[in-house]
Amino acid sequence: MRIAVVSLFPEMFGAVTEHGVTGRAVRQALVGISHSNPRDYTVDRHRTVDDRPYGGGPGMLMKIDPLQQAIAAAREQVRGEDGARPHVVYLSPQGRRFDHRRAVALAQKEALILVAGRYEGVDERLIEAEVDEELSIGDYVLTGGELAAMVVIDAVTRQLPGVLGHEASADEDSFANGLLDCPHYTRPEAYQGKVVPEVLLSGDHERIRRWRLKQALGRTRERRPDLLEGRAMTPEEEELLAE
Ligand code: SAM
Repeated sequence: MRIAVVSLFPEMFGAVTEHGVTGRAVRQALVGISHSNPRDYTVDRHRTVDDRPYGGGPGMLMKIDPLQQAIAAAREQVRGEDGARPHVVYLSPQGRRFDHRRAVALAQKEALILVAGRYEGVDERLIEAEVDEELSIGDYVLTGGELAAMVVIDAVTRQLPGVLGHEASADEDSFANGLLDCPHYTRPEAYQGKVVPEVLLSGDHERIRRWRLKQALGRTRERRPDLLEGRAMTPEEEELLAE
């Protein structure tokens, strides 16, 4: 997958391109991440990237021209041999809420462009002309779209084939099958007077599988009952929830 980020602060993205699982995915070329900075497309001496909003009021907006040209450059960066149109996402608190399902869907795309806003945001006409989808990472306002873009990059990248080794499967994480994950334990066997559940030491794989599923169901019902609404239960899940 090819991802181009449009941002005034490309250096921030080292957090995902240089570290951990996503950093390894970049080094293994499982995902390519490039940058396009609107400041590189300014023409004035001060390299101005913001402008006053029509109608007045506090705050500035990102200037249209440099941003539009940065998006055009990003389109070139992610252009593949297949000629497929990249999917352009503007990170915005007004967008659809980003979630696991959206991460899985975006991981199917060949090319993504993530536009990070700054100041009070961007001109509405630019969104209409260039953006396919607005995504929000939650009901709060950040000072810029970079952290939100990194959240999307991280969640999407770990869905790509080959990114997670067998030591960590995305299929068993929270939300993958519509449930929260079960609790996990590592050594020591006793910690501050609390011991690891006996079943996990039994070596009985079927018992462990059923215990984990029951824990996942119980946790989900307790913490996120909304996830169970409308989710079809298997007969085994019904039985475990009723126990
Ligand atoms: N005036 C805008 C509003 O109230 O909708 C907020 C602008 S915010 C200060 C600056 C930039 O941060 C936005 O253009 C957007 O790219 C990003 N941003 C802020 N909150 C976000 C969120 N919850 N999800 C995704 N991006 C966000």
